[in-house]
Amino acid sequence: MPTRYDLDRDALADLLTGEPRYRIEQVWDGLHRQLAAPDELTTLPKALRARLTDELPAALDPVATSATPDGDTVKWLFGLDGGARVETVLMHYPDRTTVCVSTQAGCAMGCGFCATGQAGFQRHLTTGEIVEQVVRAARAARDGGRRLGNVVFMGMGEPLANYDRVWPAVRRIHDDLGLSARHLTLSTVGLVPGIRRLAAEDLPVNLAVSLHAANDALRDELVPIGRRYPLTVLMAACADYLRAKGRRLSFEWALIDGTNDRASDADELAELARSLPLPAHVNLIPLNPTPGYPTRGTPRAGVRRFRHLLEERGVNATVRRNRGVDIDAACGQLAARVSRVELTARAR
Ligand code: SF4
Repeated sequence: MPTRYDLDRDALADLLTGEPRYRIEQVWDGLHRQLAAPDELTTLPKALRARLTDELPAALDPVATSATPDGDTVKWLFGLDGGARVETVLMHYPDRTTVCVSTQAGCAMGCGFCATGQAGFQRHLTTGEIVEQVVRAARAARDGGRRLGNVVFMGMGEPLANYDRVWPAVRRIHDDLGLSARHLTLSTVGLVPGIRRLAAEDLPVNLAVSLHAANDALRDELVPIGRRYPLTVLMAACADYLRAKGRRLSFEWALIDGTNDRASDADELAELARSLPLPAHVNLIPLNPTPGYPTRGTPRAGVRRFRHLLEERGVNATVRRNRGVDIDAACGQLAARVSRVELTARAR
């Protein structure tokens, strides 16, 4: 059965066959603008509310929620139909509120430094499952007196590997939830055909490329998809994306101790960042140490040093804040892994 946000307008119209035409707009507006559940739509007759509650079930079953003591970061672990679980993270900054959403349960990309990748792929999320994460976050933000302004597709999963469901979700978030394209960021580990499809779309969303290595030998080791799309091919697609969209592009770089945090890595990364028509911004991601996990993150002083090396080479870099846990890690999946363990522990 399709869930609440899986239906597009036409499918909703079909569901409401026999009702006055204006009901379609009423329900659509209620779900998307008011962020309301069908039983909260008090402008509808009671019987219709009951039917919609039955026929438009929620997709996400909250399994656990955790928040930092200051409430600036809220994480949900959601159960999905079939038993998979994904995470959604809401982050309040002084000047903005952002949600990080998942697009797949698990991941098929198999990056050597990522436990989610090692654990494999479960399934694609549906458009409705993706949109509902945003709706729930927007509601929580509103309840706290904030307005959700940004969506980053950096949670569990490779968004461009689930393009046919992710793009309709992007459209819905833009068209119906009212977020502007410049506040939507899709991440990718480097799926070139997906980047090229994205370049042909009419919405100029931001692109974040999880690079992690700036030469093919190291990248092939860290990110296996690099063997299919070497850096020259990936950079050509990034350059074309920038030319088509004129948006800033970022490189995500998870700093791994002694592996990609050397001066030679800064040299190579700076060269790639500057080779694009608009120089890429680099987001440096310090990894928290995780018990039982072989890869060590670069210590704090090393992170500062690496940033400095990039800036000396003319590249703007930001160190992502950790807020105690890796909510911004890698393409997000490391984050999902760490916090899933924590959330599951809390839920027990
Ligand atoms: S790092 Fe990202 S793309 Fe790579 S396996 Fe993990 S989740 Fe997938």
